[in-house]
Amino acid sequence: MTTAPTLVWFRDDLRIADHPALHAAADRGAPVIACYLLDEHGEGVRAPGGAARWWLHHSLAALRDELAELGVPLVLRRGPAVELLPALVAEAGADAVLWNRRYSPARAIDARLKSALREAGVDARSFPGDVLAEPQDVRTGSGTPYRVFTPFWNGLRDRPVASPLPAPDALTGADAPGGDALEAWGLLPTRPDWSGGLRAAWAPGEAAALARLEEFAGELDGYAERDLPAVDASSRLSPRLRWGELSPRQVWHRIRAAGGPQSEPFLRELGWREFFRHTLFHEPDLATRNLKPAFDRFPWAEPDPTELTAWREGRTGLPLVDAGMRELWATGTMHNRVRMSAASFLIKNLLVDWRVGEQWFWDTLVDADEASNPGNWQWVAGSGQDAAPYFRIFNPERQAARFDPDARYIRRWIPEYGTDAYPAPIVDLAATRERALAAYDTIR
Ligand SMILES: Cc1cc2nc3c(=O)[nH]c(=O)nc-3n(C[C@H](O)[C@H](O)[C@H](O)COP(=O)(O)OP(=O)(O)OC[C@H]3O[C@@H](n4cnc5c(N)ncnc54)[C@H](O)[C@@H]3O)c2cc1C
Repeated sequence: MTTAPTLVWFRDDLRIADHPALHAAADRGAPVIACYLLDEHGEGVRAPGGAARWWLHHSLAALRDELAELGVPLVLRRGPAVELLPALVAEAGADAVLWNRRYSPARAIDARLKSALREAGVDARSFPGDVLAEPQDVRTGSGTPYRVFTPFWNGLRDRPVASPLPAPDALTGADAPGGDALEAWGLLPTRPDWSGGLRAAWAPGEAAALARLEEFAGELDGYAERDLPAVDASSRLSPRLRWGELSPRQVWHRIRAAGGPQSEPFLRELGWREFFRHTLFHEPDLATRNLKPAFDRFPWAEPDPTELTAWREGRTGLPLVDAGMRELWATGTMHNRVRMSAASFLIKNLLVDWRVGEQWFWDTLVDADEASNPGNWQWVAGSGQDAAPYFRIFNPERQAARFDPDARYIRRWIPEYGTDAYPAPIVDLAATRERALAAYDTIR
């Protein structure tokens, strides 16, 4: 008699270390089959944007190779997970399906699948996902979700965080049902292939992610300079965390072990990631609805197509904003300080609804995240739960003078900076600031 295999369903957790579902599959002892289902239209699903698809392709290729070394096949299928997963279970003759939980609106799919599979006699089980503490377990003293970051962080920082699980060293594979070729999914851009800058900046996959974590832990003291965009002082771990090439638990424990004065400020940033994940769990329409309802009445301007294009292409004439937008287009990322300035410029100086900018970032960031992207846009807009007040308007010239005083970052991305070829500002900063404050006065 052959033993029925265990199916492990991979989602935003493209790694084999600290993977609770894969670990539990190893513990079951039966042969293992892995699968990844590209479900772009399912309930609550937000389909990845262009840069994210590029990352997904390469990270899946890396995962496929890692699993192959363990003898485990990765089956790829595209379509609605609610149909594909039960079909795959039946074809493989699996008697168990294991996955790590997600906290986005797509968890509706998982809940449905879990009960349907269990009814069919399949051992369907889920495990903690990509958080330090699960949202359902973190509450204020009065039992409500936290709405303000500092008390959330104070509640979180001293909680025990589960130690990372090792990668399984031995698994048994099983004959797998057929699947798609990764290349056939067309996740990579062609005609034109705009991914050259991404390739130069990044090597997706778990091995590179772990190597970067090690490297960063060794240079943690440099994090003190994280606000300077010309200096490579931050971890650049955001896409690794977004795609689950690393778990936040791994990062947490590694940085705690590194210690020193910068470990706390770093972990606090990881706390913001966690805060927005918990927020998304409680506010599933975070990307579309102002968390402060007064903003529903905000008199946004109809976006001027010329201004919007100038913002997207980094030709606003405000060097810090333009450098950031060009960095984003070239590499799929942007320094955090500059993200704040670029977002503030769109929302406040151009008076464009934050959702327009959020969507552009969604399409262009390799770390585009369903929680952190809208969470941060709402933070800059002032419409979020614990947000910067609307009237605090970043001045991109002063931000540049403060954080890029010798324009090193600016020159890196704007070769024509300081010449006649570089445009004059498309708007007057002082006048648009006054316009934004007047608009805000109408909703306070
Ligand atoms: C308008 C705007 C949009 C953003 N969109 C995203 C997004 O889609 N995905 C994303 O991961 N981050 C987003 N951020 C947050 C932040 O800019 C990036 O996480 C950071 O720049 C990544 O670089 P790093 O890994 O070197 O950060 P580090 O400073 O090394 O921070 C370590 C980790 O903490 C987390 N983190 C740091 N800052 C934040 C923050 N403000 N909010 C949430 N998590 C944070 C990230 O996971 C990051 O990898 C956005 C910020 C702004 C202002």
